[in-house]
Amino acid sequence: MTQPQQITVLGATGSIGLSTLDVIARHPQRYQAFALSGFSRLVELEALCMIHRPRYAVVASVEAARDLQGSLSAAGLGTRVLHGEAGLCEVAAHPEVDAVMAAIVGAAGLKPTLAAVEAGKKVLLANKEALVMSGALFMQAVRRSGAVLLPIDSEHNAIFQCLPGDYSRGLAQVGVRRILLTASGGPFRETPQEQLAAVTPEQACAHPNWSMGRKISVDSASMMNKGLELIEACWLFDAKPAQVQIVIHPQSVIHSLVDYVDGSVLAQLGNPDMRTPISHALAWPERIDSGVSALDLFAIGRLDFQAPDEQRFPCLRLSRQAAEAGGTAPAMLNAANEVAVAAFLERRIRFPEIASIIDDVLNTETAVAVESLETVLAADCRARELAEHWLNRPRRGEA
Ligand code: NDP
Ligand code: MG
Repeated sequence: MTQPQQITVLGATGSIGLSTLDVIARHPQRYQAFALSGFSRLVELEALCMIHRPRYAVVASVEAARDLQGSLSAAGLGTRVLHGEAGLCEVAAHPEVDAVMAAIVGAAGLKPTLAAVEAGKKVLLANKEALVMSGALFMQAVRRSGAVLLPIDSEHNAIFQCLPGDYSRGLAQVGVRRILLTASGGPFRETPQEQLAAVTPEQACAHPNWSMGRKISVDSASMMNKGLELIEACWLFDAKPAQVQIVIHPQSVIHSLVDYVDGSVLAQLGNPDMRTPISHALAWPERIDSGVSALDLFAIGRLDFQAPDEQRFPCLRLSRQAAEAGGTAPAMLNAANEVAVAAFLERRIRFPEIASIIDDVLNTETAVAVESLETVLAADCRARELAEHWLNRPRRGEA
């Protein structure tokens, strides 16, 4: 009998991490959790270690590692607890690992995800921010190492499923006219613009169709998520921004479409449950049971489509601008957004100010060509400084 594949789950305590472990647990003969990482949810990480008995666990600090090591050893587990970015990179690149689920949120996932890519792993990419930030470098590293990069983002996974196997020859060569990237429109799809200033983090995080982490939920509400996904699609499929059309589809049943020159449009449909793309990527090119129920088209009844409103959702426009500017612009867009979303979740700014901060940062700092990872990290750092500066600026009516 073949040995189960060894899977590292970066961001195991998050929404994608938990869905991944759910799929892994359904197929113990095929998959085994090799390493699990957590950050703030340490009680949850300990519980996951008890269930999945990984070889390694990774936490943020040396103190947290000592605590977790103590409780896991006391429970008789042989799990070794590592810490920090070095620990994450170690379990991402470990020679015994077959596949890495990159599901840390934000720029924090960049180096561990790149470590998995550079080690030539099968990389299941949920952490879109890593690719948005480092685009060209990331894709060069994939080609150099021979890593197998499989998209987890439901839209990109759908596009991957609708493209022919040899799409890396070039979209035009395989007859693709456009990519149609669907978007639910988020919880504020129909909220009048003048009411957006009053929306709360709780409302922003209550997504109508998907249950996700807080950062991506706010990104969905501002439609920055779709902007990041536009950039992600350009890198994954070697597309120009103009080849990617965003389509609002409130039911989230069609996960994206590919439009071919002969007029054929292929779509991937399914219930909105991330275990479908996760199972697809884990088993690819095979198919396995994901635990997701069969799509009931009669219950859904209808599928609607609308054009996006860039006036109401300026993050879409800003993302397209950054995609077209290239260089360090997407890294700055991402970093400014991360700072702005955190400030919104802490109730320091109002919802529409997320876009104002990003706009300000992109207008203040000119994008430069990406020479190396250092260029990307410097742009990320500078954009965070500028965004913090915006947050700390004196406001009208304040001393
Ligand atoms: P969550 O917030 O639910 O989970 C994030 C994970 O990252 C957690 O395990 C968290 O640990 C960990 N983490 C957070 N900050 C750090 C840090 N500084 N260093 C190391 N680890 C950290 O997010 P999601 O699971 O929703 O999203 C994860 C990624 O997947 C994001 O990039 C998102 O855009 C992408 N994605 C998510 C989808 C979804 O349906 N959820 C759909 C498509 C893409 P802890 O919880 O212990 O703090
Ligand atoms: Mg998505």
